[in-house]
Amino acid sequence: MRVKRDSGRTQVLDSIRNSGPIARIEIAEATGFSPATVTAITAEFLQAGLIVEMPLESPAPVEQKQGQARRGRPRVLLRLNGAAHVVAGLNVAHRSICVQLTDFAGSHIAEFEMPLAQPCMAADTLGHMILMAVAQSCDRAGIPIQSLSAIGVGIAGQINTETGFVHWSPSLKARNVALGPQLQAIAPCPVFIGNDANLVAKAEHLFGKAQGIDDFLVVTIEHGVGLGIVLGGRLYSGARGCGAELGHIKVEFDGAPCQCGQRGCLEAYVGEYAILRAAQAENDAYDDVQQVFAAADAGDAAARKVLARARHMLATGIASLLNIFDPQLIILAGTRSTIAHLYDDALHKAITGMAVKVDAPLPPIEPHHWAGALWAKGAAAYAIEGVAQLTIRDLAQSPV
Ligand SMILES: [Zn+2]
Repeated sequence: MRVKRDSGRTQVLDSIRNSGPIARIEIAEATGFSPATVTAITAEFLQAGLIVEMPLESPAPVEQKQGQARRGRPRVLLRLNGAAHVVAGLNVAHRSICVQLTDFAGSHIAEFEMPLAQPCMAADTLGHMILMAVAQSCDRAGIPIQSLSAIGVGIAGQINTETGFVHWSPSLKARNVALGPQLQAIAPCPVFIGNDANLVAKAEHLFGKAQGIDDFLVVTIEHGVGLGIVLGGRLYSGARGCGAELGHIKVEFDGAPCQCGQRGCLEAYVGEYAILRAAQAENDAYDDVQQVFAAADAGDAAARKVLARARHMLATGIASLLNIFDPQLIILAGTRSTIAHLYDDALHKAITGMAVKVDAPLPPIEPHHWAGALWAKGAAAYAIEGVAQLTIRDLAQSPV
């Protein structure tokens, strides 16, 4: 499900999340709202339990009673109230579903990984797998599933975040599936579903390398290649809600076949499946991409050639992103071994050679090694935002 944003309250909550613990006057400075507006909105949040007060200088809790003189009162800081909600974030990966249980502040409670027998399945089967993974993670953490406030689901492919409609996903046999509504019908709480790369971008913004940065891109590389775009502090989801499909930009006419059904896509050279496939064409003894990486490390010429080609194609994609967006930062996110075998001086040199020359240094391109559980944290971040928006929607019944 998707909730329409209430921009004033959302900005105040975002500034507490991004900068907290934070004083009311600092929220007013950050958002441009009057101190009176900030006081009114934060009073609502306190009442709803989304935030709590922390005394900065006084050892005793600060009591705010109506009519009490305020002069001389210690400055009170506000922070998110982690205990307000428990959410489940999960990422549907190629071979497993990873689940993270977190509190409302994004603090880790528990994680769980459920293997998948097959990477691509019918929508109702996947829906039940997702619910089963959530139920098992709650069981292990000793948390009743009914106490969850929201479930966030990250999945590869073209997903309309407004409607939960999946236009296409490598995890689903059929195209055009209303996966979000199907999940909502069997889930015990609101379900928020989105493209996995977008959710990683959200997690980087809230908890990772992009905290405090408003214009950045996250390129994800695992089985496929994804892109999350954050502009002006907001995730860009596209007019159809489908987001950015970097993996399917064309880097070679009539090139290698892609899992999307087209040819010459970036991920048909850079995705882990594509690296394995290209290496298998040289040596059919390879069973997984880790063996290709190991062979390249051992000096195998054919494996090194496959990786050099993947790097060249990746550089083409990243240079195009630099040329289009001119972001403050690009994060290259993926598993440690994949990023380690693609991110090197040769990649940097190729990107520099293809980026438009201006009289300013290129923005940093930073690798970030993401384990499966951290992808799920991106989905948890999405669920947290969804819960916050549901609460704000309820609060918005009474105008500030
Ligand atoms: Zn494709």
